[in-house]
Amino acid sequence: MTVESHFENHKSVIETELKQTKETVLIAVAWINFKEYFNIFKEVLTNKAKLKIVCSDNWQNRSHQTIIDNLVNFGAEIRLLKMPRETNHMYHKFAIVDSKTILNGSFNWSPNATSSFENIIIIKDFPNEVTKFISEFNKLWDIESKAIKDLQKNTKCQENKCDGELFNILVFSEKTTKYYEVYGDIIEVCTCCNHQKTLQNCILNNRIEFMLNAYQDSSDDYETELIDRDINRLLDSYVKNKITIHAIGRVNSGLRYRDDDFVETNIIWKNKFVGDRLPDKFDDTTFGVVYDN
Ligand SMILES: [Zn+2]
Ligand SMILES: [Zn+2]
Repeated sequence: MTVESHFENHKSVIETELKQTKETVLIAVAWINFKEYFNIFKEVLTNKAKLKIVCSDNWQNRSHQTIIDNLVNFGAEIRLLKMPRETNHMYHKFAIVDSKTILNGSFNWSPNATSSFENIIIIKDFPNEVTKFISEFNKLWDIESKAIKDLQKNTKCQENKCDGELFNILVFSEKTTKYYEVYGDIIEVCTCCNHQKTLQNCILNNRIEFMLNAYQDSSDDYETELIDRDINRLLDSYVKNKITIHAIGRVNSGLRYRDDDFVETNIIWKNKFVGDRLPDKFDDTTFGVVYDN
């Protein structure tokens, strides 16, 4: 067994170890500057090694989404980890190369920080410790799998003779306050019968109205895509709630013909794992979400 400590040039230490891979690189690091490490990761993949990365689902990591997508296209498996509860943060900074080398320390994989004091320790040929690190990595990998499974899980309606599926929709009221705040409830809805149940009410959102207006006013594809990404990111944040939210709806009402008024709830966002199982619109219902502001 060998142990080596490094107190500077962390990036080149990481680069040297990762580039030696012939099989698998597992990385569990809370903050990764994907732009900074793109070339190293790409070389790992070009060497036909497997690359699996778990990092935390924070704003900084998400800001590199294009680069992450790029790496995924090259064959990397990358998970931005959403923790089930806000308090269970992931602070790891370790990697395992070919089930032989452990890199561990205080260093987040950012550009070489000259202003902070960090360390990386490289441990080689210590099989018992490698096993522990791999099992910790798999534990983190499975947390996300469980969250995805929950979203894919088909919950059958319990009503007599109904074989519809139940979804939780965060339905926002049609009206907003003069400060563009909008209130919503989380409703359990059946895709087939009239079953509905309010799971949580009075959820305040003060950005969605602004974003939807910008979305409608945006003139070019690029702008639309940026706003779309913002909306998705904001809505995604609700999924951290203890209740799984499958979709977001918005109540709409108006006059169809003279004196013939209508109400409907449009689904404005769906989790990507829900897809076509949920309709885009529910006619003739507000799900009781009527906040008069
Ligand atoms: Zn039914
Ligand atoms: Zn039903």
